[in-house]
Amino acid sequence: MSSFDKIRTRIAPSPTGFLHLGTARTALYSWAYARHHGGEFVLRIEDTDVARSTQDSVDQIITAMNWLGLNYDEGPIYQMQRLDRYTAAIEQLIAAGKAYRCYATPAELDAMREAQRARGEKTLYDRRWRPEPGKTLPTPPKDVKPVVRFANPIDGDVTWDDVVKGPITINNREIDDLIIARTDGVPTYNFAVVVDDWDMRISHVFRGDEHVNNTPWQINIFNALGAPLPSFGHLPIILGDDGLKLSKRRGAVSVMDYAAKGYLPEGMLNYLARLGWSHGDDELFSAEQMVSWFDGSHLSKSPAQWDPAKLDWVNGHYVKQIDEARLAGLVVEQMAAKGIAATAAQIQPKVSLFKDRCATVAALADWLAMYFAPVVPSAEDRAAHITDAIRPALTALAERLGALAEWTKPNIQQALKETLTATGLKMPQLAVPVRVMVCGRAQTPSLDAVLEHFDQKKVLERLHSV
Ligand code: GLU
Repeated sequence: MSSFDKIRTRIAPSPTGFLHLGTARTALYSWAYARHHGGEFVLRIEDTDVARSTQDSVDQIITAMNWLGLNYDEGPIYQMQRLDRYTAAIEQLIAAGKAYRCYATPAELDAMREAQRARGEKTLYDRRWRPEPGKTLPTPPKDVKPVVRFANPIDGDVTWDDVVKGPITINNREIDDLIIARTDGVPTYNFAVVVDDWDMRISHVFRGDEHVNNTPWQINIFNALGAPLPSFGHLPIILGDDGLKLSKRRGAVSVMDYAAKGYLPEGMLNYLARLGWSHGDDELFSAEQMVSWFDGSHLSKSPAQWDPAKLDWVNGHYVKQIDEARLAGLVVEQMAAKGIAATAAQIQPKVSLFKDRCATVAALADWLAMYFAPVVPSAEDRAAHITDAIRPALTALAERLGALAEWTKPNIQQALKETLTATGLKMPQLAVPVRVMVCGRAQTPSLDAVLEHFDQKKVLERLHSV
């Protein structure tokens, strides 16, 4: 911390798609760490891959960050708006003899690597264009645009104490002179990221495990620039429930896909928090609690496993817990997406009857759809429950329900009881067929409570359609 007067973290997504769950977890940890320490959190857009970066993707990333409540203090800062700064830093390194232009063509480099492979050596750039004492460099060819390479230290080790993985040491002989600017002058990831982390006074870099091999280069570049070193924490990958890396091919990996599927931001945030971090045995906690606990300790070194059943359990907790007016609004959106019109005022009185059995808002909307759209009982349910033996009882019940002057739960209960007495049936024998016809499914909460929320007319129509 000595070189930094404040904890500052960042998330630095490449805008080539949606906000991936892994990036969202990194963002969450970076955000929580900054908030825990009263520091700042920065959003940086790493858009130097011009061919694949889009504004639409930036917008999607920001939407997902907002949805999760990961508010940032600075940004979005776009790397493509900082090209002059990178160029100046590259010139500074070239002038100091810490970077140099390399004119080797791709074909030459292929041949070099081929020869190294043939000799059984590691394929590393052989430093042919690196100025060294007593070495005569070839004359730069006029028709070749050079790249710029970083003159990596030849000897010694790079060591850092990873916040997640503990001490890591790499010998400089293992790494070669990295390209830091392409032929078009655009800096490569490893260079831009260092200049940015330096300029943005980032004290702690959290990112995915896949970047751990980049960190030795980055540390050498920090040192070459005379910039203070941040702390690094590399978070283990997230495996899908099949044990393979979580990927688009095997289910949703976009945060907003989960929003669309009816997960709540509280549930997502809580679930993501536990994917690689723990606080004792706590499983259910708010963002505020996480912030108060998240001090960079108890981060897991081993891969996390995506567990849809646990996500449902966590999310279901918040479906039960959140304000019912908000829940009703979310149900309206879920229904609208399915083409079913309903208002929050119509929905709200009904949510408490069903929400305890729902993992997601979508599941709740699914239940409530029976009040607003026609129901289609399955052929199996009809065959199993709507028998000739039961039809007269359904007609008798419809008559009693039709005669009710006031559509209340006790009156509905009374009509059910009278029908049982008159027909000699037991409650399930009557209730299940009613459920199938009126609700479109054989199981529901208590029948009188479910029926009460319908229009009397609709119940009669559905019973008469037997
Ligand atoms: N743009 C990089 C990524 O999305 C950022 C890596 C980093 O945080 O340094 O993986």
